[in-house]
Amino acid sequence: MRPLRDLRISVTDRCNFRCTYCMPKEVFNADYKFLRREQLLNFEEIVRISKIFVGLGVRKIRLTGGEPLLRKDIPVLIRQLADISSIEDISLTTNGVLLTEKLAQELKEAGLKRITISLDTLDQDVFCRISDVRADVNQVLQAIGHAESAGLAPIKINAVVKKGVNESSILPMARYFHGSRKILRFIEFMDVGHTNHWKLDDVFPAADIVREIRKEFQIRPAEANYRGEVAKRWLYEDGGGEIGIISSVTQPFCRSCTRARLSAEGKLFTCLFATKGYDLRHLLREGADDKYIAAVIGSMWEKRDDRYSEIRTSETVLLPKVEMSYIGG
Ligand code: SAM
Ligand code: SF4
Ligand code: SF4
Repeated sequence: MRPLRDLRISVTDRCNFRCTYCMPKEVFNADYKFLRREQLLNFEEIVRISKIFVGLGVRKIRLTGGEPLLRKDIPVLIRQLADISSIEDISLTTNGVLLTEKLAQELKEAGLKRITISLDTLDQDVFCRISDVRADVNQVLQAIGHAESAGLAPIKINAVVKKGVNESSILPMARYFHGSRKILRFIEFMDVGHTNHWKLDDVFPAADIVREIRKEFQIRPAEANYRGEVAKRWLYEDGGGEIGIISSVTQPFCRSCTRARLSAEGKLFTCLFATKGYDLRHLLREGADDKYIAAVIGSMWEKRDDRYSEIRTSETVLLPKVEMSYIGG
């Protein structure tokens, strides 16, 4: 059995971006039924469930969404999570636009260890085309600066690469972050959910990402930092730091997957591509005690045989799957 080590918690299914590969505007529009406030787990519930997960082996918690910084008082939640003993790492993934200097400091003081900021390109036109909102690349670059000043290191930068959209941004991004002590991670476009109309042809494969970077930089593969690390590490030969490549489509890594996901309304998913989640909120709100909830989660984890990325075919793409913004990326 793969150990249960990481818990990703989606704190909201809403977002201020409409990235075409995640929340395309034609679906996530005014008619879309986002979760209502009372459907979301409140902080008390998130902390309680996190403690139960820690009892089952979880050591790392990542807050995500949707856009987690849209949820009010996130530093308050982080402080409460940081107080749980045995938690080794609390991190957060954001598109950065709401990350002010003040908020970055507050997050750090509350106990946030690390932050991942998503940025797919430095080109303003491409950025607008992907995020499909009126935001400025410079806002994201400033957010990265605020995170750095607050000491939220090492900062990771997530860049999804979609063929025909932003592969020409790979080298400029590599150049920009080379030697900056930030870890740039390129992610293959994945078939999460259905609304992004994923096709294998739209995937820019990891091997091609490496080839692109090697046009200008010498890089060599490096050992993983720990079992279950999702990104394959590459080091610049000239000491310019490292980059990561997340190749869940062309080189899947299910065998070492130690991650559970909790949706914003408290459903437990044992795989990013799961078709159904288990309703833990119901247990929390109907008076089940911690021991019982732990037993339910433990037995779900024991039964887990998820390996979607290893068995991906043109047919699995059609399976009913939940959206990334709901399950938490
Ligand atoms: N809104 C935050 C952000 O964008 O950083 C957090 C949530 S987002 C779902 C988490 C990560 O998932 C982001 O780095 C995003 O680029 C990535 N992502 C979203 N849809 C994806 C897809 N179809 N394939 C690969 N990565 C995806
Ligand atoms: Fe929002 Fe993040 Fe999805 Fe983009 S990837 S739409 S920023 S949740
Ligand atoms: Fe883990 Fe599922 Fe992704 Fe495989 S497909 S790595 S089991 S989340």
